[in-house]
Amino acid sequence: MKSFQEGFWRTLFRPRCPACGDGYLFQKFVGFLPQCPSCSFEYTQWVKDDGPAFFVLSILCAVVVPLAIWVEVAFEPALWVHIVAWTALIFIGTVLMLRPVKAVWIYCQWYFRASKKDT
Ligand SMILES: [Zn+2]
Repeated sequence: MKSFQEGFWRTLFRPRCPACGDGYLFQKFVGFLPQCPSCSFEYTQWVKDDGPAFFVLSILCAVVVPLAIWVEVAFEPALWVHIVAWTALIFIGTVLMLRPVKAVWIYCQWYFRASKKDT
């Protein structure tokens, strides 16, 4: 069995089936396939609630809030600059981060055997 760190980083940068490491996880943008196209491993057994969105927004807030404070103190821009810049940054960051974080979320459940079927 591979180490947790190896699988974690592999999944973060190349989201694939945690069981075989080959099949796609997603259909469309962030919707999960019902099962792996390569090994038929079922993805429906994993909890896919709001956990990934929570982590994405927490990470983005940890970056955006200090950045917004620094920009305000250093440059004192108009309010509309803050609204446009930080909304765009949060939107782009969410789009870029949501899929890898969802893949890691599934990988962690698979690695630690925390499927819905166990409960
Ligand atoms: Zn697979």
